[in-house]
This record gives sequence, structure tokens and C-alpha cells, in this order.
Amino acid sequence: MTYWRSCPEINEPMSCPWCGKVTRKYYEEIRLPRDAPYEGNARVISRKPFGHVRDTDVVRVTRDLWRAFDYGHFDTLRCAQSWANAVLDEEDAA
Ligand SMILES: [Zn+2]
Repeated sequence: MTYWRSCPEINEPMSCPWCGKVTRKYYEEIRLPRDAPYEGNARVISRKPFGHVRDTDVVRVTRDLWRAFDYGHFDTLRCAQSWANAVLDEEDAA
């Protein structure tokens, strides 16, 4: 498994083993011409004009999936570091 900073959608929520933070829902924003219907398979949350661009809308959609963490099993690098150090500290103590 390769961990990129771009977050893939995942089917089940996950929580950080260090701080317990839970993944957020995955939302996507798509720009569409004002009169074009959204024809994707995601659920539309909202549709708003795109700033001052008159002929473009921003459509916010979700497939009711979850957003993976940016750092594998962890939400932040700090959590990954703290967890790793705690594991090694425990090994030292044993
Ligand atoms: Zn965390």
C-alpha cells in the first residue's frame, strides 16, 4: 500500500491509533456549467454559483464514503512519531 497525501475514499471509517481521531466523510466539489445537470452516481449535497463566474456552478457531492488519513494509519505525522516512540519505549521497559 502506498501512502500519498492525496486521500483516497475508503469504505469504513478509521481512527488514529494514537489520538483516536476518526476519519471524516469524503466530499468532492465538481464544477459544472450552470445549466448542466449533475449526472454522476454520488449524492448531491449542495449546488452554488462558483464565485463571480456566472455560467459555472460548484456541486458538492458525496458517495457516503470516508476519507483516508493523510499518513497511512495516522492523521498526522506527529501521531505516527508519538506512537512509534511509545512502542520502542515499551520495548525498552520490557
Ligand atoms: Zn492522531
